[in-house]
Amino acid sequence: MTQYNATDDFDRQHLWHPYTRITDPLPAYKVRRAEGCTIELDNGQQLIDGMSSWWCTIHGYNHPVLNAAVTAQLGSMSHVMFGGLTHEPAIALGKTLLEITPPSLDKIFYADSGSVAVEVALKMAVQYWVAQNMVHKTNFVTVRSGYHGDTWNAMSVCDPETGMHRIFGNSLPIRYFAEAPKIGFDESWDESDIASLAELIRTHRDELAGLILEPIVQGAGGMRFYHPEYLRRAAKLCREHNILLLFDEIATGFGRTGKLFAYEHAAVEPDILCIGKALTGGYMTLSAVITSTAIAEKISNGNPGTFMHGPTFMANPLACAVAHASVKLLLSTDWKAKVKSIEAQLLQALAPAKDFPQVENVRVLGAIAVIEMKSPVSMADIQQRFIEEGVWIRPFGKLVYITPPFIISTAELDRLTQALLRVVKEIN
Ligand SMILES: *Cc1c(COP(=O)(O)O)cnc(C)c1O
Repeated sequence: MTQYNATDDFDRQHLWHPYTRITDPLPAYKVRRAEGCTIELDNGQQLIDGMSSWWCTIHGYNHPVLNAAVTAQLGSMSHVMFGGLTHEPAIALGKTLLEITPPSLDKIFYADSGSVAVEVALKMAVQYWVAQNMVHKTNFVTVRSGYHGDTWNAMSVCDPETGMHRIFGNSLPIRYFAEAPKIGFDESWDESDIASLAELIRTHRDELAGLILEPIVQGAGGMRFYHPEYLRRAAKLCREHNILLLFDEIATGFGRTGKLFAYEHAAVEPDILCIGKALTGGYMTLSAVITSTAIAEKISNGNPGTFMHGPTFMANPLACAVAHASVKLLLSTDWKAKVKSIEAQLLQALAPAKDFPQVENVRVLGAIAVIEMKSPVSMADIQQRFIEEGVWIRPFGKLVYITPPFIISTAELDRLTQALLRVVKEIN
């Protein structure tokens, strides 16, 4: 078997990677460049990208339009503080975001990352109630199998079993967890699915600031696709019981599920919306929290009368400029037809995996395909095999999934799915 030497000694000894150990870590392959759907390793090997670098690079790597946006912005200013100053990239991006999000949401808070957006959204919800002297409405309800980020409060609403609760224990705020939605996206709806959430909301409404959900697709908490009726029922419960509805569209936003935002599958609108990841087309870190005038005004008219958050790099002009270019680029293409055709190809190409004895389930929605194995895969082995096959796929636990860039060609997607099938088939 070929030994791949595209790793780096300094990196191995000194640099921490996501969710890894620093002693004897699994290999991190050194990348020389990336272009379109291709990631080129330091040893010259080319990999077809199946991950979009964690949902982000929807237009592929090294895109001329996005490169031009960053370069142009760099020439005027890469950063100024957002406290007391403003700039065209923030304004232009804001205008574009309001064109594509529900009309009821029109106040934007820019933040640095997805996790920070979730922190900001939770703080907004709490400040909203505190401003109205409802000082007991400070807790949150969510569903199991969720993922909302790695910072403190974001962690507290991640799945309590597969998330990080076990490690951080009592240091995390205690949230209310309903059972995860069980009925799949395409299955027939049954009232029993909402019972657990309904019960929690009814019992704890007086202490709840809000309900936070990833609409339709639960990402890193289990890659599960649930029924749109669940969202409609959840929204109704929130209205009836006077709690805010927070949607985390950080992974699902910008076309990934076949709609621009996943809540469109259910035609429900949240009170507070978090976006991130693909917002900048994968160029830089940026997120945004968007809420209604009513909520923004309640916070602003209460005590202390200001919203208490303000990152140093808030609305970074480079990030806003490339985000604006990325969203415009997406809207200027027939992304819907492209995602539909990716979905059709994924469904057809991965169907054979349903019959593999080691596979539990195969599911596809938009440009997301998940092969759920019966038992967890060995990252060390499977990563090496994917590289040998010339593809970049990074599974976790029992989940081998792909979320390719939207620009992927039929031939590239064919090579990606064939490699995926070959590797999954040989796992025992
Ligand atoms: C990735 C993700 C986050 C966290 O975003 P970061 O930019 O990694 O902090 C939050 N929520 C969801 C649904 C995500 O997929």
